[in-house]
Amino acid sequence: YRVRSSLGHTRLRLEAEISITDALLRNNGVYAASFRHGELPARPSMRLAVLACMDARLDPARALGLSEGDAHVIRNAGGVVTDDAIRSLSISQHHLATEEIVLLHHTQCGMQTFSDEEFAVAREHSRGLRPDWSAQTFTDLEDDLRESIRRIRASPFIPHKDRIRGFIYEVESGRIREVS
Ligand code: ZN
Repeated sequence: YRVRSSLGHTRLRLEAEISITDALLRNNGVYAASFRHGELPARPSMRLAVLACMDARLDPARALGLSEGDAHVIRNAGGVVTDDAIRSLSISQHHLATEEIVLLHHTQCGMQTFSDEEFAVAREHSRGLRPDWSAQTFTDLEDDLRESIRRIRASPFIPHKDRIRGFIYEVESGRIREVS
């Protein structure tokens, strides 16, 4: 088969037996050859944690101008403030000295295209059982960002809550706009 991919700074056109993972390993060889971040501390220099959707069209580091060592970037489906997101944010603030949180949703998010119940019923049909977790879909991007900020503010495990801001990334333009 033929796969065409643009991964990192090498653009590879691959034939036959080479898998995507093999292509990634090649890219890493290129990356490591000019690597210059070996002395960075683990604590993010911007004292910032970003919680973003995992959508493939959104690259938080590039969209926000982040480099290695600058910030924690936590991602999941929807950029939702789940218990696990709280876990990461809490570790980020308590152990790695971050104090600011940026939440990043985006236009055309897949999480707006189905409901929690639809997802659960579909898994029940396809897998034979309902997940014991909720998909945590949402309908309105801005409402969900406000709800996300409320959830973080309500958590007793997040000590720094003065600087939490929510943004929507436009996959159409690359711009972000703040939700107040
Ligand atoms: Zn999304």
